Amino acid sequence: MVNAVRQGLELECEAIQVFTRNQRQWTPKPLADEQVREFREEGESAGYLVDAVSHASYLINLCALDDAILEKSRIAFEDEIRRCGTLGIPYLCIHPGSHLKAGEEAGLVGIAESLKLALKATKGVKVTVLLENTAGQGTNLGYRFEHLGELLRLVKSKRLGVCIDTCHMFAAGYDLRTKKAYEASMTELDDVVGVEQVRAFHLNDSKFECGKKRDRHENIGEGEIGKTGFKLLVNDDRFASLPGLLETPGGPEGYANNLRTLRRMRNK
Ligand code: ZN
Ligand code: MN
Ligand code: MN
Repeated sequence: MVNAVRQGLELECEAIQVFTRNQRQWTPKPLADEQVREFREEGESAGYLVDAVSHASYLINLCALDDAILEKSRIAFEDEIRRCGTLGIPYLCIHPGSHLKAGEEAGLVGIAESLKLALKATKGVKVTVLLENTAGQGTNLGYRFEHLGELLRLVKSKRLGVCIDTCHMFAAGYDLRTKKAYEASMTELDDVVGVEQVRAFHLNDSKFECGKKRDRHENIGEGEIGKTGFKLLVNDDRFASLPGLLETPGGPEGYANNLRTLRRMRNK
């Protein structure tokens, strides 16, 4: 865990996103005290604990149709919230879920139920769950802002917000390529979800065209979104205080390049 903090400092990151566990296994190792102490100490002094984000496991499906998988998902999700609480990470980002063949409405109702259970079971834990918008591959929910808006309304919790992934929104059909398109997409986000619900951004360009519903991240400015959209976003006063997390290809070296690109785009 502490390596994320150290790597963040090395790259001069203003914010970090981590996994608090192996994201592809159902049963993670519990956090060791020493691991927690190191992370909290160095994370705090780096200033990262103010808005650090943890990304939840990809295995979790909060509206799984199979009872055993739903149960495993709910247990794992609750555990992720607690791990964040223990580590002092304020935000846990999760993909809403895949409805499989249940249909979108049934899926959303199922996700809302799982969210309510987890938030109730972890009452008092200072972690806000962020629903991430998705590209809309397969039966993934969350590719329409309406899905996120409905989940917020169904769950009604101060511990629930939204994380917007630029690649995913673009893939889902929300254009960002020109000033006009950017403003229209952000106005729609504000009308349907509310910009005040957005707590974090995933900053990724997209390998595929707008509306293709394909989730392939690209380096900032080198994909189909291009530079204009990101220039507008990093200078958008509505989002000035929010963490922006890179999920671009190429590991640490890729992050360094993308950070340089984003910094050059910033007016101040
Ligand atoms: Zn994600
Ligand atoms: Mn993302
Ligand atoms: Mn993605």
